[in-house]
Amino acid sequence: MAGRRAVVLLSGGLDSTTALAVARDEGFECYALSFDYGQRHDRELESAHRVADALGAKQHLVLRLDLRAIGGSALTADIPVPKSRSESEMSSGIPVTYVPARNTIFLSHALAWAEVLESSDIFIGVNALDYSGYPDCRPEYIEAFERMANLATRAGVEGAMRLRIHTPLINLSKAQIVLRGSGLGVDLGLTWSCYEPQPNGRACGRCDSCLLRRKGFSEAGLRDPVPTAR
Ligand SMILES: [Zn+2]
Repeated sequence: MAGRRAVVLLSGGLDSTTALAVARDEGFECYALSFDYGQRHDRELESAHRVADALGAKQHLVLRLDLRAIGGSALTADIPVPKSRSESEMSSGIPVTYVPARNTIFLSHALAWAEVLESSDIFIGVNALDYSGYPDCRPEYIEAFERMANLATRAGVEGAMRLRIHTPLINLSKAQIVLRGSGLGVDLGLTWSCYEPQPNGRACGRCDSCLLRRKGFSEAGLRDPVPTAR
């Protein structure tokens, strides 16, 4: 009998990589899904490829979506990425690195692929603690999407299966995510978090994502294998 299949959203960052490792650890045959959505750099997609390989994903699909044509985010438009913000600045309001409706767009594609794969399980590495500014990382959003998914698909309506959105990291701190990932044997040096890679290939060390990552490794008492600009 084939293993249970799961579709795992994989950006190549720390969180989605750990979510993939959790899915694999729970015995799922993993189908990794990434998006080439017009992000300003393709460094994270490179990481997604390496992670999918290293963690033995059954298939790694990269869908092209031109979110740059929509814009509205520092990750897809010519808007500066905020640097060196304090924790209180990061936790107040929705940052310009928010990509409009991104998780809804990504989960919708995951849902379509899951239906074709006859999978009833989707994993997403959202986290409600450290990214409290992102509305589509909240548990009530995920519950609403799951409810919608079961109304929206043939598999859901015919009662053949109940689709579940797994969010194994939703209540974890960045430090706990680092520990979970490394505890599952993931080489975290394969992951990429920085919003603005430097010309020398290092992480910038100052964007929100770099700062949260640094805090996570430091609180976990581990050294980050990914080189930073300073
Ligand atoms: Zn950075």
